[in-house]
Amino acid sequence: MTMLKRSLRGRLLRGATGFRPLFMHVVIPKPLRSFGRHALTAALAVLVLAGLAARPAAAEELAKNLFGAKQLPAVAAPQSIGFYSKGCFAGGVAIPLNGPKWEVMRPSRNRRWGHPTMIALIEKLSRDAAADGWPGLLVGDISQPRGGPMLTGHASHQIGLDADIWLTPMPDRKLSLEQRENMSATLLVDEKTHLVKDALWAAAHTRLLKRAASYAEVERILVNPGIKKKLCDTVKGDRAWLRKVRPFWGHDYHFHIRIGCQPGSPKCKAQENTAPGEGCDQSLAWWFTEEPWRPNKNPDRPKARDLMTMASLPAACQAVLDGPDPASAEAVTYYGDGVPVAAAPVLMTAPAPARASASGGAALPASVNAFAATPEIGIPLPRPRPGN
Ligand SMILES: [Zn+2]
Repeated sequence: MTMLKRSLRGRLLRGATGFRPLFMHVVIPKPLRSFGRHALTAALAVLVLAGLAARPAAAEELAKNLFGAKQLPAVAAPQSIGFYSKGCFAGGVAIPLNGPKWEVMRPSRNRRWGHPTMIALIEKLSRDAAADGWPGLLVGDISQPRGGPMLTGHASHQIGLDADIWLTPMPDRKLSLEQRENMSATLLVDEKTHLVKDALWAAAHTRLLKRAASYAEVERILVNPGIKKKLCDTVKGDRAWLRKVRPFWGHDYHFHIRIGCQPGSPKCKAQENTAPGEGCDQSLAWWFTEEPWRPNKNPDRPKARDLMTMASLPAACQAVLDGPDPASAEAVTYYGDGVPVAAAPVLMTAPAPARASASGGAALPASVNAFAATPEIGIPLPRPRPGN
C-alpha cells in the first residue's frame, strides 16, 4: 500500500510538472491551476483515488464480504441460483427464532434464512419429530439472507437448500439468547476412533434421522462416518432410507439436511444422485482407514470461499445482491402451521419486477433475466408444506 501510494504520488508529481499525465481525461479546473503544487497533487490524488474506487474494484471484492454484509433477503420469487457451494438465492424467508418445537441457535450469525421449502420442511420436521418423541429441534446454520459464500464456516449452504440441525434435543426450559450463542454442543463421536460414543447415542437419534430422510424433498443427510456406521450396524427393518444418509467430515454434533433444487429455480444446479444401496459397504469402510484423516498437506491454502469474487458466482447473483430489501425481517419470516409469510407490507414497497419480453428475453442482461420469472407480486405465498 505504501509502495502504491509512493508510486502514485510520483506519477502525479510527474504529471503536474509537465510529464504525460496519468489520466488524460482529468481536466484541472481553472481555480486549481493557481494553487500550489501540493494542493494540486492533493486534488489530483482525490480524483485518481475516486477513479480507482469506481474501477472494477466492485467486481473484485470478495463475494463473502458482499453477501455476508446483507441483513435481509432480496425480494423476489424464491429462486436458488448455482450450486450448493457456489451460488446464491433470492426470495429467502427466515425461520422464526422460536417455534413450538424449535429454537434457533447462534442467532447473531443471521443464518436462519432459506428457500421457503427448506424453512417449511424444518418446521414440519420439528412437529413430526416431536410426535416421534424428540422434544424439539435446535436449528443451526441455514443460509445468509441472500445465500452466497460465508465469512466463516461452511463451503455449502449458499443457495438456501442446506440446513444444520443439532443432534442435541431442545431443552425443557427455553434457552435465553445468550445461551443460544454460547451453549456448546455435545460431540457424539470419538475423535480418535471415529466411532459413536455409545453412552450418548439413543434410539431417538435414529428416529430423528429417519424422519428427516423420509421427506421426498430431502436428497441427502450428511452425518459423521461414525454416525453412519452406527445406523448401518443397528437399523432394523426398513433400511432404504440409509441411502440418503451420507458420511462426511465433521457433522459430529449436528446433521445436515440438503433438499433438491425446487421448482422455479431454472438456474439451480442439481447434485449428482447418491449411489444406489444403503452405503454400508466399502465406501463406508474407507472412512475407517487412515486416508481420510491424514493431515492437510497445504493447511495454508485458502479455501474457495476466501477467493470467490462476484465473477466466480453465476452472473444472476449480482442481481440478487442488488435486489430490493423487504420492509423488515419480520415481513419475510415464515410462520408454519398455515400462517403464511406476511407478504403485504413488502408488496407496497417492492419495485415492479423487471420482466423479459417474449421475444427478447435471451438478449436481456443477466440482471434482468435473473428475475424474468418474477410474477407481479413481490413475495409469493409459500408453497404448500412438503408432505402435505
Ligand atoms: Zn451443514
